[in-house]
Amino acid sequence: MRASTPGSGEAAAPGANDTVHPKSHIIGRGSVMEKILVVEDEPDMVMGLKDNLEYEGYTVVIARDGIEGIQVAQAELPDLIILDLMLPKKDGYDVCRELRAKGMDTPIIMLTAKSQEVDKVLGLELGADDYVTKPFSIREVLARIKAVLRRKGSRPQKLDSYDFANVKVDFRKSHVIKGGQLIELSHYENEILRLLIANKDEPVSRNRLLDEVWGYDLFPTTRTIDNHIVKLRQKVEDDPRNPAHVVTVHGIGYKFVD
Ligand code: CA
Repeated sequence: MRASTPGSGEAAAPGANDTVHPKSHIIGRGSVMEKILVVEDEPDMVMGLKDNLEYEGYTVVIARDGIEGIQVAQAELPDLIILDLMLPKKDGYDVCRELRAKGMDTPIIMLTAKSQEVDKVLGLELGADDYVTKPFSIREVLARIKAVLRRKGSRPQKLDSYDFANVKVDFRKSHVIKGGQLIELSHYENEILRLLIANKDEPVSRNRLLDEVWGYDLFPTTRTIDNHIVKLRQKVEDDPRNPAHVVTVHGIGYKFVD
């Protein structure tokens, strides 16, 4: 068994990220301005978001179509991305999917025009962190941004990779190599496995999985988790019906054992 985390030596102390949050338009020495990428083609929307976010103390970078959005995300490495769904050249679904496929775990808040699209945004397992339905108030967007960034800041150091039995997990690439065969993991399968392994030998409740993997209060029933667990077992277990590693803890949830 081997586990590794990036730069574990410089892991921030609990609470250290509190200083990163922007104090509205007062940028003191030593505070870090968080950078937000806005991917949106409507000029009024871009201007409104840019002005308000800058007023709140964020650095703002803009991309006006989907292809530019991916390029700017990779070049600027923003702390958060506000991503419109309807974009020229490449829509928000594809941008989100591609960024996640490239291993970018930057929080993404989707802007959707219709509430019907919400199901798709969350249901397609795109890996978006939250969404706001147009028309929205800037106050609402700011609240979502702060909540998502707070969650990101409180995230513990993430595991990058882990080996067990005949399985090598690469969490950054979201895949496992099992007996020499490469098997892709969905975003949620990857994050469920990462959380279970980070808490090896300890039961992780379904509610905690919902909180930490989906991180969204209104997101699905615990049944959804069970379905993802079934798929995950098919990918990592020798005998998915009698799992040896992703084990059910009755009445609680799941735990990982080597
Ligand atoms: Ca648009």
